[in-house]
Amino acid sequence: MEDKIIKKPEEWKQELTQEQYDICINKGTESPFSGKYCDSKEKGIYKCVCCGEPLFNSDTKFDSGSGWPSFYDPLDIEKIEYISDSSLGMNRTEVNCNKCGSHLGHVFDDGPKPTNLRYCINSISLYFQKED
Ligand code: FE
Repeated sequence: MEDKIIKKPEEWKQELTQEQYDICINKGTESPFSGKYCDSKEKGIYKCVCCGEPLFNSDTKFDSGSGWPSFYDPLDIEKIEYISDSSLGMNRTEVNCNKCGSHLGHVFDDGPKPTNLRYCINSISLYFQKED
């Protein structure tokens, strides 16, 4: 297992924009249909905006209608950290980048086959690298 990246909030604050900090470190949620990758259909890899770790392939992206980029599978399950989240009176599973711990979004069990999962991810948490 490769080494994790551990940084203090003050360090992230230096590296990230305010918007990125609010979502990725303070676990915020971007407004639905506001994110730049919501409707993107380009082929490529979605990486963690904080540490660059490859997280999702565009092949697993689908139109969920939720207003956030949605994927039915990560590149590798070990690239994701899963945390039980009971905030806002809901029982949800928060998903973070397993390498740097930054917040990505949540995963739900109402996704399409073959996994039936829906990784609901903030565009702001991602950096898209187009396939050559
Ligand atoms: Fe990361």
